Amino acid sequence: MPGQKTPEYLFRPGSPRPTRYIKASVRKDVLMARRRTIDRRKAKGIARERMDILFNRAREVFPQDRKLARRYVTLARRIGMRYNVGLTKKDKLDACKNCNSFLVPGINCRVRTHAARVVITCLECGHVRRVPFTRERKGKLNKHPLRKPLSKSR
Ligand SMILES: [Zn+2]
Repeated sequence: MPGQKTPEYLFRPGSPRPTRYIKASVRKDVLMARRRTIDRRKAKGIARERMDILFNRAREVFPQDRKLARRYVTLARRIGMRYNVGLTKKDKLDACKNCNSFLVPGINCRVRTHAARVVITCLECGHVRRVPFTRERKGKLNKHPLRKPLSKSR
């Protein structure tokens, strides 16, 4: 009613009671800060586990269904982002960072070496990934990545 002062604890008919009145005792438990830090470490472990499972599923399903494999990769990466967990070295090479495709050399990605880098081209979206590697060195001649190839010393 306009002009009429509403008592502080009076609620409109049908409106649910605010949770702060009925749940105060419950919330104390839920909001305890100490529990959270312990759980986060556990959560990371679980996240890693799940990402691993998803990548294995992607590997399995790839020959039959690339789209599904991509979906698994997407989910695994999303879990990783949520819990701040990175992909393993191997999984990182198996996934396209741009389109989340599961990558299999010779089928949907191209792997070449160039200038002391492994160049992985995703053939689904064209994204290029370059991973540096340390070249086997004989003396200091080959120190520079663009220096003459090793074959001369043979
Ligand atoms: Zn891609």
